[in-house]
Amino acid sequence: MSKTRPAPMRLTARIYTFVLILVTLPLSSASDNTTLACNNLQTLLDPSVVQFPPTSNDPNSAGNYTSTITSTWNLFNAEFTPTCIVFPRTSSDVQVAMKEIFDSDVNYAVKAGGHSAMKGWNNVDNGILIAFDYMNHISYDPIKDTITMEPAIRWGEAVTALESQGVAPVGGRVDDVGTGLLLGGGLSFLSPAHGFSADNFVELDVVLVNGTMVTATQTNEYADLFKSLKGGGNRFGIVTRYEVRAVHVGTKEDKNWFGGSIMYPEASFDALAKAVLQYTQDNNDPNAAILVYFGALVLPDNTLFSFAMANLFHNNPSESLFNITFSPFLSIQPIISTTLGPLSYHDIAFSLTEPLPSNGHGQLFGATVLSSSPGSESEQAYIDTVHQWINFTKNEALYSELNTTVLAFTPIPVSQIVVGRQRGGNVIDPPLEAYNAVQFQVTLKTGIKSVSREMEEAREVFFEKWGSSFTRITPLSKRV
Ligand SMILES: Cc1cc2nc3c(=O)[nH]c(=O)nc-3n(C[C@H](O)[C@H](O)[C@H](O)COP(=O)(O)OP(=O)(O)OC[C@H]3O[C@@H](n4cnc5c(N)ncnc54)[C@H](O)[C@@H]3O)c2cc1C
Repeated sequence: MSKTRPAPMRLTARIYTFVLILVTLPLSSASDNTTLACNNLQTLLDPSVVQFPPTSNDPNSAGNYTSTITSTWNLFNAEFTPTCIVFPRTSSDVQVAMKEIFDSDVNYAVKAGGHSAMKGWNNVDNGILIAFDYMNHISYDPIKDTITMEPAIRWGEAVTALESQGVAPVGGRVDDVGTGLLLGGGLSFLSPAHGFSADNFVELDVVLVNGTMVTATQTNEYADLFKSLKGGGNRFGIVTRYEVRAVHVGTKEDKNWFGGSIMYPEASFDALAKAVLQYTQDNNDPNAAILVYFGALVLPDNTLFSFAMANLFHNNPSESLFNITFSPFLSIQPIISTTLGPLSYHDIAFSLTEPLPSNGHGQLFGATVLSSSPGSESEQAYIDTVHQWINFTKNEALYSELNTTVLAFTPIPVSQIVVGRQRGGNVIDPPLEAYNAVQFQVTLKTGIKSVSREMEEAREVFFEKWGSSFTRITPLSKRV
């Protein structure tokens, strides 16, 4: 992320719509400016807050610098070398850092949980990285019935910290993902009943590009900023405090859900694709939530292991109701295995370890949406999407670099869209019809840091075809 300077420098809507725009400025003295800015920051802030890369004389001089860079989920993001990293302890540290970045006109990036799959979204070369590692406080206010979080908390930590109080935020489905999810909208197993994660914002502390801090709510003078942050990502400011609605999910002992997962072999893929569509069209129960993914793993002997997983959860302990709600998935044969039973929300929050081993690998992502309009065209579209993905996985020319690939479907029911609208809307702003958010993930083998032309072309073929045979709603993002 780098910065353009808005002019005039007044605190208007223009400032925060111009901030954090991804433009690289060809500054000949950029790295000198950045070093100077880092040195200034070390004077302005506690020296331990600003850390530089290790020097050859003293490899231990870097503190957390190296571990912060190398802990990014996508290996491609560990390849950047910021001139320094600012580890804020408070919002005012972020204000000081942003004022210096703004005045010095240097590039910067922001990292919370570090889980972005997008190259360059949470790190920067010759710039300043603001890494939230130390701001991970979370608390529940029973009077306001809200949860307050700092950016470095991850969803598993959030659920664990609040479990005894029986509440949870509408967070992610994989426990080690971080709060950047909120700014992207956020898909949770609580979403069908409670909206996108960001629909649950109550109050946000936001440091603007010039270092000014504002508190944005749905009704105050920063209401437009507030709405922009519901799905607008990192373009509008740096959030240092999230206050969100609490959901009363119960404690570990409260087995008030029924569900789990069913694993299918390739012989059931077509039936599963049809079941995803049927469920998306027919289900009106906001207490039901699913995540279905198709996965393929290249084994050491260059053979492929393919499977699919339907993760099905119902916020109702009744097994018979579960069987009715999820009948399209339960009737599919053959299956490999099932793990269905009574669950607490805490169980669910830790039930999805990452689909396949991917931390620290190079990652390539793409996303789109599939409508669920009635008719044979839609059914064919879901099947075709899965077939295109199977064709991608069977391209043996890719096996020397391919570790795993996943195609994931998350139905977005009308109930979820309605909640968002009732709470002032978000910038995802989907039409009022159920659809599927679809993600295509390619994980490269350990240590692979560049992508071959074969891989790029195979992805291109996939992207060309997956949009061709169905009605597409406004794409969320095509690919990166
Ligand atoms: C395995 C996996 C599972 C996932 N599961 C889900 C899921 O269930 N639901 C879902 O909705 N998404 C999911 N995602 C996507 C995830 O929400 C995004 O990748 C999210 O951006 C990660 O946030 P983070 O804080 O971990 O990452 P980071 O990489 O630290 O941040 C992501 C982006 O947000 C920006 N950002 C972070 N914090 C701030 C801040 N405080 N102020 C301004 N900008 C900020 C960063 O600059 C970066 O561009 C998943 C991703 C993966 C790889």
